[in-house]
Amino acid sequence: MSTTASTPTPQPQSDDWIARSLRAIWHPCTQMKHHERLPLVPVSRGAGAWLYDRDGHRYLDAISSWWVNLFGHANPRINAALKDQLDTLEHAMLAGCTHEPAIELAERLSALTQHTLGHAFFASDGASAVEIALKMSFHSWRNRGFADKQEFVCIANSYHGETIGALGVTDVALFKDAYDPLIRHAHVVQSPDARLAQAGENATDVARRALDHVRALLESRNNRIAALIVEPLVQCAAGMAMHDPSYIAGLRALCDQYGVHLIADEIAVGCGRTGTFFACEQAGVWPDFLCLSKGISGGYLPLSIVLSRDEIFAAFYHDETARGFLHSHSYTGNPLACRAALATLDLFASDDVLAQNARKSAVLRAALAPLADHPQVRNLRQCGTIFAFDAVITDAQRAASFSRRFFENALQRELLIRPIGTTVYLMPPYILEDDDLAWLAARTRETFEATLQEGA
Ligand SMILES: *Cc1c(COP(=O)(O)O)cnc(C)c1O
Repeated sequence: MSTTASTPTPQPQSDDWIARSLRAIWHPCTQMKHHERLPLVPVSRGAGAWLYDRDGHRYLDAISSWWVNLFGHANPRINAALKDQLDTLEHAMLAGCTHEPAIELAERLSALTQHTLGHAFFASDGASAVEIALKMSFHSWRNRGFADKQEFVCIANSYHGETIGALGVTDVALFKDAYDPLIRHAHVVQSPDARLAQAGENATDVARRALDHVRALLESRNNRIAALIVEPLVQCAAGMAMHDPSYIAGLRALCDQYGVHLIADEIAVGCGRTGTFFACEQAGVWPDFLCLSKGISGGYLPLSIVLSRDEIFAAFYHDETARGFLHSHSYTGNPLACRAALATLDLFASDDVLAQNARKSAVLRAALAPLADHPQVRNLRQCGTIFAFDAVITDAQRAASFSRRFFENALQRELLIRPIGTTVYLMPPYILEDDDLAWLAARTRETFEATLQEGA
């Protein structure tokens, strides 16, 4: 590696993507002033698991471009499906019209839930899917005569997106505090994070304790509560907080007992990330609403989907217009996005992806295992294709700069990794071969060492 994006080669003005970008683009989830020091990677193309910058450097996309990419960049099979769709139908509105990609996708997703869920409602982003599920839950109760059910429950440290409604069920202070006066807050229940185990407890015990807290809340307020929303198995944005599947089964039982909808936000954990296609499968239960986005289009196009049960749909089915679900987005059910999703589902079916992922994850787990003995590593953990560990850094300033420094050190080692605080995680695309996995683990460990040692 010669140079990195932190020391970009001087370019003629019109060619300087970084300067132009910082002038023209307001980058997401970023304090723009930090880019005075933080490198911006000028990505010119992608191929497989690799992103290439315009100077020819390559970076292994070890976090699947914010958890969306499943089968690599410029995947030939998804590309072919999209090119075909492009010449057939690029877009048509889904109100009053329909088209084959949306129909087939809706049918196939329902089949993946053994037809427990269906009635696919399409949107473009994860946050919109969450908004839709919240609105549908409230409105379906209202249509059924329970207009007092107006409140929601979320889990401590939950993340469900950043629009105003989704922030109401998100428990991340950094994203939320500035907008506090605008937000209608949900009830926040205890986290089932397995790391909260006390001496002698296992993950199931933590889940049981957290469920007791949910039970107490539902017992006292279920006539006011419409739904509980959860990220099954892994709270990704919280720093890959993982919990026992018995927690999800327990939530299902409590929601049934107290007449509260269960919304599973599988935006990050769906599409095979946790080892099963849907994370809920590991708990042996289905929610009342299931939100999908991110990986469903293979990481190609903005697409989100809310699946729901027949009885939810039935609560809206009526002669009266206002009892319907009058919600829409312009690009609802976009045929290109749906076709990318169908190509993604085809890959799952033809390539035995879940079984292959289980094997690959075992390889990566073994390669990362030595980290468990590192004196500055805690909680090396895994769920499906998601790996994480917490760095132990006592100096507050060094802990605060850890994520940025790790990111820069990773770029120098041809890796794209963005720790969440002091939690380092890998969520690679599903297409890595064994030697890529060994390389990834080795470079991750090197990056970690370099980050610990610099300026120490
Ligand atoms: C990313 C994410 C969202 C929000 O999706 P956007 O497409 O970014 O709006 C919601 N919930 C979870 C669990 C997510 O990981």
